Amino acid sequence: MSENYAKETICIQSGWKPGNGEARVLPIYQSTTFKYESSEQMGRLFNLEESGYFYSRLQNPTNDCVAAKICELEGGVAAMLTSSGMAATFYAVFNICGAGDHVVMSSTVYGGSHNLLTVTMKKMGVETTVVDPDADYETICQAFRPNTKCVFGESIANPALVVLDIEKFAKAAHAHNVPLIVDNTFPTPINCNPFKWGADIVTHSTSKYMDGHAMALGGCIVDSGNFDWAAYPDKFPGLCTPDESYHGVVYTERFGKAAFITKATSQLMRDLGSCQSPQNAFLLNVGLETLHLRMPRHCENALKVAQFLEGNDKVAWVNYPGLKGNKYYDLAQKYMPNGTCGVISFGLKGGRKAAEDMMEKLKLAAIVTHVADARTCVLHPASHTHRQMNEEQLKEAGVAADLIRLSVGIENADDIIADLAQAIAD
Ligand SMILES: *Cc1c(COP(=O)(O)O)cnc(C)c1O
Repeated sequence: MSENYAKETICIQSGWKPGNGEARVLPIYQSTTFKYESSEQMGRLFNLEESGYFYSRLQNPTNDCVAAKICELEGGVAAMLTSSGMAATFYAVFNICGAGDHVVMSSTVYGGSHNLLTVTMKKMGVETTVVDPDADYETICQAFRPNTKCVFGESIANPALVVLDIEKFAKAAHAHNVPLIVDNTFPTPINCNPFKWGADIVTHSTSKYMDGHAMALGGCIVDSGNFDWAAYPDKFPGLCTPDESYHGVVYTERFGKAAFITKATSQLMRDLGSCQSPQNAFLLNVGLETLHLRMPRHCENALKVAQFLEGNDKVAWVNYPGLKGNKYYDLAQKYMPNGTCGVISFGLKGGRKAAEDMMEKLKLAAIVTHVADARTCVLHPASHTHRQMNEEQLKEAGVAADLIRLSVGIENADDIIADLAQAIAD
């Protein structure tokens, strides 16, 4: 949108712009393919000489409208949807890293991303050095190597709830001529815009707050357009030298600020095919229309629940970056002054056994492998999402064995608290 609308207006109005007589609501282009009058035009599309749709493995108009909305919410220049948050993380990294390259990653990132980088991408020849997000600037700088291609972190780590010092990481990345990629799933662009603080690429699992109703899996990559790939052609040959699979196109020359997203779409989507289903993109768009209403409520409820837990004598510890006195309160105030997210973690004095007993007694909060939707839900990462990690890795990831991850929904806060109170009581 050319107008400078506020986020609330972008949530509702951005993306789909119907012409005269067209559907008011974003249509679902439930079509694998698109028709053209001449084979010559089709040829130009395949040469990337003209933009347009030809096959939904690469791009789809419904998806592009939704990506444009998220792009605007983040303040970026180009964006794409992916079939999942994991696909977004993989594509964002793999778009600039291949065999023989290296990544610097915050240790507290989401378990799935940790596995992707340290196990799966390692098999592809990409090495990752894990750094403590709280380490000082100099220590973080020591992790870089000549073949480092990017830095990856999470604005609020799931489930460790560590708030990333985005400026510190951006400074370290830029001092080594590489971009900072930030997974901004938990605060969403309603509460945090990593580009404002120097991040270059943002990724999302749209399966969480953006969709908001636990209905549609999806991901998104947004490019700020700020990283100057062409200044480091030796580091980023994929963007700065001819792509033989497209008759020698040089992405930075032909597409300027859209180079990163165009390459990810035309190469990675073409060859690996993780496009979001247009049905899911439609549902995601409905979710985005209320994101600006839901996020403040998630945060308000989470703060009330965190305060209740803090005052309960069966509770050993509570971690919520919105709580005064929390280790990350100051960083949260800086990077997300309007609120963090709806996710809290805590431990009970009775440890793991007490956690399991409590979870079984909950009536409102359901045990599910999900976070960040309208319904309050709960999970024990050490036995569920992070069970493939050993004790050492759990510690490094900031996941204690007794950690209960509570995703506070947008029900009435008193009802959520009453449910927890009865489940914690003997
Ligand atoms: C869930 C999640 C992912 C993975 O997203 P999927 O949509 O489940 O593939 C990545 N990062 C964070 C922070 C997440 O919470």
